[in-house]
Amino acid sequence: MARKTLRDYIRTIPDFPHEGIMFRDVTTLFADPRGFRMCIDQLLHPFADQRIDKVVGLEARGFILGGAVAHQLSVGFVPIRKKGKLPAATLSQEYQLEYGSATMEVHDDAILEGERILIVDDLLATGGTAEAGIKLVERLGGVVTGCAFIVDLPDLGGRKRLEDMGMTVEALCA
Ligand code: 5GP
Repeated sequence: MARKTLRDYIRTIPDFPHEGIMFRDVTTLFADPRGFRMCIDQLLHPFADQRIDKVVGLEARGFILGGAVAHQLSVGFVPIRKKGKLPAATLSQEYQLEYGSATMEVHDDAILEGERILIVDDLLATGGTAEAGIKLVERLGGVVTGCAFIVDLPDLGGRKRLEDMGMTVEALCA
């Protein structure tokens, strides 16, 4: 039997959370020891020769990835969370959803001026979530060295949106 690729560990759930959405469920990848190890190693690979001071993870699956990536790099981890979840003083960044808007927040002392930041999340769709994360990092004076995702859905334009901001975007599969 052919060796499993990372894509083989991800299942697609039709009509979740709404009718017509094909949801990429990465919990099956996270649950598999070989798949999870492969995923973390591959996420890190493009940034192996770069200085990274902290890893930022976007709620919620970005926390699972970001914690593992930060541990592997022996650097700190910073969560960017949905509004109202972080206990200390925060910076907020609003972004547009298909219907309405949402707000992401970061602790205002979580990143220091000039720190080099790797942003991680499970999936890049329109890029709105990642763009909000990038803006929060930059507003704190951080320098985003790159954005790493497991899945990129290129038809939704996220990669172009982030690259137009000057970002390096790495994704493991489509
Ligand atoms: P965007 O802001 O790029 O449109 O959406 C990306 C965000 O929505 C990410 O934080 C990601 O976790 C979540 N997301 C959207 N669609 C999916 C999906 O099909 N699977 C998973 N795992 N996450 C998704």
